[in-house]
Amino acid sequence: MNSVPAYPGIHLQTQPCNGSKHRPLRSTRGGPSHVGIIGAGLAGLRCADALLQKGVRVTILEARDRIGGRICQGDIGGASVDLGPNWIHGTANNPIVNISKQTSTVTRSWESPQTVIDSSGQPLDAVTTARLSDFMWTTIDKALEYSQNHAATIPPDLSLFDYFREEVEKTAFTQPEKEACLELSKLWGSYIANLFVASTYKNILHSVAKPALQGAEVHLSDPVVSVEAALRKPDAAHHVTVHTASGQRYMFDEVVATFPLGWLKQNKSAFSPALPARLSKAIDNISYGHLEKIYVRFPDAFWHTESRECQRNSDNGADEADRSTSVPVFTQFLNPTYTDHPPTPFWNQECVSLAALPESCAHPTLLFYLYGSCASQIVHQLSSIPPTSKEYHEILNDFLHPFYSRMPGYSPASASCKPVGFLATKWQLDPWSGNGSYSNFQVGLEEGDRDIEIMREGIGIERGVWFAGEHTAPFVALGTTLGAYWSGELIAEKVYEMLSGKEGQKQGEL
Ligand SMILES: Cc1cc2nc3c(=O)[nH]c(=O)nc-3n(C[C@H](O)[C@H](O)[C@H](O)COP(=O)(O)OP(=O)(O)OC[C@H]3O[C@@H](n4cnc5c(N)ncnc54)[C@H](O)[C@@H]3O)c2cc1C
Repeated sequence: MNSVPAYPGIHLQTQPCNGSKHRPLRSTRGGPSHVGIIGAGLAGLRCADALLQKGVRVTILEARDRIGGRICQGDIGGASVDLGPNWIHGTANNPIVNISKQTSTVTRSWESPQTVIDSSGQPLDAVTTARLSDFMWTTIDKALEYSQNHAATIPPDLSLFDYFREEVEKTAFTQPEKEACLELSKLWGSYIANLFVASTYKNILHSVAKPALQGAEVHLSDPVVSVEAALRKPDAAHHVTVHTASGQRYMFDEVVATFPLGWLKQNKSAFSPALPARLSKAIDNISYGHLEKIYVRFPDAFWHTESRECQRNSDNGADEADRSTSVPVFTQFLNPTYTDHPPTPFWNQECVSLAALPESCAHPTLLFYLYGSCASQIVHQLSSIPPTSKEYHEILNDFLHPFYSRMPGYSPASASCKPVGFLATKWQLDPWSGNGSYSNFQVGLEEGDRDIEIMREGIGIERGVWFAGEHTAPFVALGTTLGAYWSGELIAEKVYEMLSGKEGQKQGEL
C-alpha cells in the first residue's frame, strides 16, 4: 500500500478566518454560535481552522502548557528531534506532505539501504537481505489488499503474522531464512511507503496551528475534568457544559472532544449523563499502543564512516569488504539471543540512522523504536530517574549496547563508539497522551471497523459532543498525523452542518 486516497466528502473553504464569507451562525441560546474544542493536538487545531473559516467562534481548552499534543520535540546534543511522530505515512494525495513542502520541511524517502542482524547477532549478507526485503514488501502489499477485499470473512483471530506464516511456506527460502522473514514480519510497519520528517514536525505543526492561534481563544494548562451534555430537545436551546481542573465552567453550543483514546478509556466517567453503552464498548474494544523511542548520540556515526581505529579494533567478525560498502540507514535486530531479556514474545528492535538524513539535518544519532512490553519495561525503569543522571545513562546504555555494538564499524576501544547522550520518551507515563502512543487493531477484534465508526459518530447529533482525533480517522489513516488532521476536518464539517440547521433538517426528514 503506497498511496492514500483523498478524503472523500470534505470541501472546506479556504478564506482566512477574519475574512470569512459566511455569516455568523446564531446559537440556539441567542448570540453567535460558539464551539468548544478540547485538545490542541493536530485534530483540534485543524478542526478549529475549518470552523473559523466558516465564521464560527471557537475556544480551545488544552491540558498542557503547549499546543501540539503528541507532536513535540526534544533535544539531543543540540539537535532537535521528534518525540512523537517522525514519519508521514502514505505519500499520494496527502495534505501533510503538501504542508511539509509549503513549510520547507526537509523529508527523506524510504528507499535506503537496510541491515538485518540475525538472532545470533550477525548481519545477514546483502543478497539475502535484499531477497527477504523484497518478500516483505510484496507480502505486505498482498496482505493489505487481501484484508481490504475479504474484511468480512477474515476470522478475527487470524493475524498478519498467520498470513505471513502461510506465505513464507510457499517460498523456496531455507529454514533460517523463513524464520528471519517471520521475525521481520513482526516489524512490518517498516515496509509501508513512508517519508521520514528530517527537520522534525515543528513547521508542519506551526502551519496547521497558525489560524487557530490567530482566530480562536486558546486556554492552556487547564485540563478538562467533566463534560455535561443532556439530550437535545426539539425547538429548545441546547448547550454543553465543560468543567476544567481550575474550576472554570464553559458553556458551548457544540463541543469537539479530541481526548486521546487512552484518556477516554480511563475517563469515561467524565461524561454525564454516561456515554451510551455501545460507544463505551467501542472505546474499550480498540486497543492503544505503547510505542516509545530512544535516541542515542555518538561522537561520530561510526556505522557510516569506517574509521581506521574502528577497522583496526573491529571485533564483530564481519568481513572488512562487506562493512566498507554497507551504510545502514535502517537496521533490524531479529529475536536477539545475545542479550538478557524477560521471557516476552517480542524483543526485536529496529533503529534508523539520523546520520543518513540530508546534510542540513544529519547528526550522529541512532533512533531506536521500542514496542510492547519491552517499551513498558524501559519506561518504568526510567520513571523516576532524572535524564541528566548517571543512572539514566547506564540503564539506557545497558539496554542498547547489545544492539549498537552489532552495527558495522563498532569497536569497544574507539571513543567514536561510546554514546555521549540518550533521550528516551515516556508516553506511557503521560496522562494527556492517554498513557500510550496511538490506537491500533489488535488480533481478536471482532467489529473494529464498526467500533471506529461509532467513535466517529460520537454523541454529536443527540447531545452535541463530537469526537475527533487519530482514533476516529478514516480507516486508511488511523493512528497517524494524517488521520488526526482529516478527523478534525471531517468533524468541523459535521458540526457546521448541525449549527447551520442542515443536520437538524436531515434528522427531521428521517
Ligand atoms: C511515539 C509516537 C510515535 C508516533 N509516530 C508516528 C509517525 O511516525 N507518523 C504518524 O503519522 N503518526 C505517529 N504517531 C501518532 C500521531 O502522533 C498521532 O496520531 C497524532 O499526533 C494524534 O493527534 P490528535 O490530535 O488526535 O491527538 P493529540 O495530539 O494527542 O491531541 C490531543 C490533545 O488533547 C489534550 N488533552 C488530553 N486530555 C485532555 C484534557 N483532559 N483536557 C484538555 N486537553 C486534553 C492533549 O494534551 C493533546 O494536546 C506517533 C505517536 C507517538 C506517541
